[in-house]
Amino acid sequence: MTGVWQEAAKLTQALLYGDELTCVFCGGEHGVICPTCTSNYLHPELKRCRKCGKLILAEQRHCLDCEAGRGPQQLDQVTAWGHYAGGLRKFIQSVKFQAHPRRIGAIARPFSDWAISQLPAVDGIVAVPMHASRLAERGFNQAEVLASALHWELGLPILQGVERTCPTSSQVPLSRQERLNNLKGAFAIRQPKAIQGRSVWLVDDVTTTGATLEAVAEILRANGVQAIYGLCLAAGLEKKLVPLCD
Ligand SMILES: [Zn+2]
Ligand SMILES: [Zn+2]
Repeated sequence: MTGVWQEAAKLTQALLYGDELTCVFCGGEHGVICPTCTSNYLHPELKRCRKCGKLILAEQRHCLDCEAGRGPQQLDQVTAWGHYAGGLRKFIQSVKFQAHPRRIGAIARPFSDWAISQLPAVDGIVAVPMHASRLAERGFNQAEVLASALHWELGLPILQGVERTCPTSSQVPLSRQERLNNLKGAFAIRQPKAIQGRSVWLVDDVTTTGATLEAVAEILRANGVQAIYGLCLAAGLEKKLVPLCD
C-alpha cells in the first residue's frame, strides 16, 4: 500500500474503532497492544506454569514453587495473559484504583482470543467474588468486568452463586501460607445447583501465589464443580528469570 492509502486506511480504522490504534499499555501507536508491550509484558516466548500461571522458561515443566509443592492443588490448570509489571500493572491498577472499568473493553478481544487458545472450552465463567463492603467502596468488581468481557467476546455464560463472606484485608505483605489461612472460610456458595457438574474458567485480575484462586477452587470443588481452569490478566515471573522489564 502506498503512504497515502496507508494513512487513509488508518484514518478509516480510527473513525470506526475509536482509540483502537493506541496501545492500552504505553499510549503509543501500532495497535491495541504494540509490539514492544507485547514483548515486554505478554512474553509470547515464555510458557505459563500449568499449576499457578507464573511465566516460566519454555524448557521448564512447572515453576520452582510448584515443583516444590507450594502451588495451588485444586485447579486443573492456571494461566495468565502477561507479566504483572510495567505497563500491564499500571493498566490493571488504573482499572481498579482509578475506577476505569471501561478500559477492560479495550483488551477484551485480544485477552479473549488468547484465553480460548490456552484453555479448554467450558460450561461457564466464575468471577472471583469481592466482599460487599469492598464492592460498595469501589463500585465494581474488576474480576466480574473481565468475566463480562469474556462473555461478550466468546458467548460463555457467567455462573453466579459464589460469594465472599469475609472482607479479607490486603494480601500483599503475606506469605502464601498466611494468605491461605487468611482466606479460609472467606467464600461461600449460594446456589450449588448452578455450578454442580460444570466445568468453569475461574477469572481474576492478578494471581501471585495462587492462594485466592485456590480458596475459591476449593469451595467450587466441594460443591461438585468438575473442572476448574484459572484465568488471570497477569501473574508473576519465575524467580530465576531476570526481570526483563519493569
Ligand atoms: Zn505499547
Ligand atoms: Zn507454578
